[in-house]
Amino acid sequence: MAITTNRLKNDTCERDWIWEREVEAAPWEETRRLSVAAWERQFRRLRESSPFYARRWKEAGAGNSFVSLADLTQLPFTTKDELKQALDEDPPFGSNLCVSPDQAKRVYQTSGTTGSPSVLALTRGDMETWTVMGTRSYYATGIHEHSSVLTTFGAGPFVAGHTHFVLLRIGARSVPVAPGDTERVIFGLRAGLADTLLATASFAQYLANRLEKTDAEPSTIPLTHVVTGGEPGGGIPSIRDHIQNVLGVTVTEVMGIGDVAPSLFGECPHQEGMHFCGAGHVWVELIDPDTQEPMEIETGAVGELVYTALTREAMPVVRFLGGDIVRIEGTSCACERTSFRMRVLGRRDDMFIVRGVNVYPTAILSVVGDFRPRVSGRARVLRTSPGTSIEPPVPIEVEVTERHGSDDALIADIEDAIHARLTFRCQVTLVPESDFGEAGYKTRLTRNAPLPSGQRDER
Ligand SMILES: [Zn+2]
Repeated sequence: MAITTNRLKNDTCERDWIWEREVEAAPWEETRRLSVAAWERQFRRLRESSPFYARRWKEAGAGNSFVSLADLTQLPFTTKDELKQALDEDPPFGSNLCVSPDQAKRVYQTSGTTGSPSVLALTRGDMETWTVMGTRSYYATGIHEHSSVLTTFGAGPFVAGHTHFVLLRIGARSVPVAPGDTERVIFGLRAGLADTLLATASFAQYLANRLEKTDAEPSTIPLTHVVTGGEPGGGIPSIRDHIQNVLGVTVTEVMGIGDVAPSLFGECPHQEGMHFCGAGHVWVELIDPDTQEPMEIETGAVGELVYTALTREAMPVVRFLGGDIVRIEGTSCACERTSFRMRVLGRRDDMFIVRGVNVYPTAILSVVGDFRPRVSGRARVLRTSPGTSIEPPVPIEVEVTERHGSDDALIADIEDAIHARLTFRCQVTLVPESDFGEAGYKTRLTRNAPLPSGQRDER
C-alpha cells in the first residue's frame, strides 16, 4: 500500500514525523561539517587518554600530526578481537577506556559468541547519546508518543536493553515482557495492551507461524506494527510479507552494533531500507569487504560498514569493522530524511563462496520463504569444511512442519528454485520444527557439521 503521509497507516497524529528535523533533514554537507568538528575533539582526546589508540596509531605510522576526518583512511581499522585484547590487558574495562573508571555509570556485556563475554562501559553522556540516536531510529519506524509498545528485549545484560530508555524518551507506552516468554507476548497482544511489537525477526516469524495455526483470524489481534531488530529477516521480502499478511501489520526494521550504538538505523514507513540515524555522533564509511578499499556510499553499492564514534566518551571506537555487509538502497527519501538507507545482506562471517561467487545465507532465506506454508521460513547452511569455499552441492537444512518431514517433491522444488535463482546446486535436508532448535530468538544462518574424528576444527 502506498504511503502518502510519511506515517504508518491509521496514524493521524499531528506531530512532526521526524524526531530531530534540524539534524535528520539537514543537507549532508552540514552533517559533514558537524562531524569534522566533533572528530577534531575526539582525535585529540583519544591521543591523550586512550593508551590503546595512542599505541596503535603510533605503530601504524600515523605520527604525531593531526589526522582529519577526510584522511581517516590513514588510521588502522579496529576489530572485535582487538577490543577483546584491550579488555584482557587492563581489566575490568580495558586499555581503550578513556575516562576514569568511576565515570563508567552503566556497563553492558556482549554475548561473547566465541570465548568469554566482553564489556561495554558508558558515561552519563554516552547513555544520553545512545538515547538520542535510538530515539531517532525508533521514531523513524513510526513509534510515536501515542504508540503502545510490547518489547521482548531484556533490560540487560545486552545493549538492546537500552531501548527502554528510548521508549521513555519518545513517550510511548511500554509493555516489557521477558525474552522468550511467548505465552505472555500472546496474552498481551490479544488483550490489546500494545499495538506495536519489538522483537527479533525470528521471533516475529515464529509468532506468525504459531498464530496462523491456532487462531482463525490472527489479523484481528489489535497489533498494527512490528519492528524487528537483532538480525536481518525483517528486510527479506518473503519473511516480511509473511509476518505482514498473517498478522495484518506493517513491518519495519531497526539495527545497531553493540560496540557503537544499540540502535543506529531505523526504517521509515516507506519501507525502503533503514535510515542512518547517527548523524553528528557516528561517522560511517563503506568499504569493499574483500580488499577493504573505501567505497562511495551511493545507491546500489554493496560493502561492509565501518564506524567511528565521534562523541563517545568512555569507549570510543575508530574505524570499527562492524561485520555487516549491506546494500545502499538510496541517499534520499520521500520522508525528507537526508541520510542514506540500507539493507543488511548478511554477516561477513556467514558469507561463503561457491565457485568464485559470494553467497549470503539471507539470499537462501528469501528463496526458501516462497515455499510457505510447507516450510516455516527458516533455513541454514551446513559447513562441512574449514574455510569459506563450499563445493556444490551446498548442504542446506530447511525447517518444515512435522507433516512435511519427508517430502521428496518439496526437496526437489527447493533445490531447483535455489539453482534457478542463486545459480548453485544444493542438497536440501528437511528438518522438522521440533529438531531445528533455537525457536523464537535469533536464528544462526550457518551450522558446523560434525567433523570426522581426529580432524582439527578451524571453522
Ligand atoms: Zn524515509
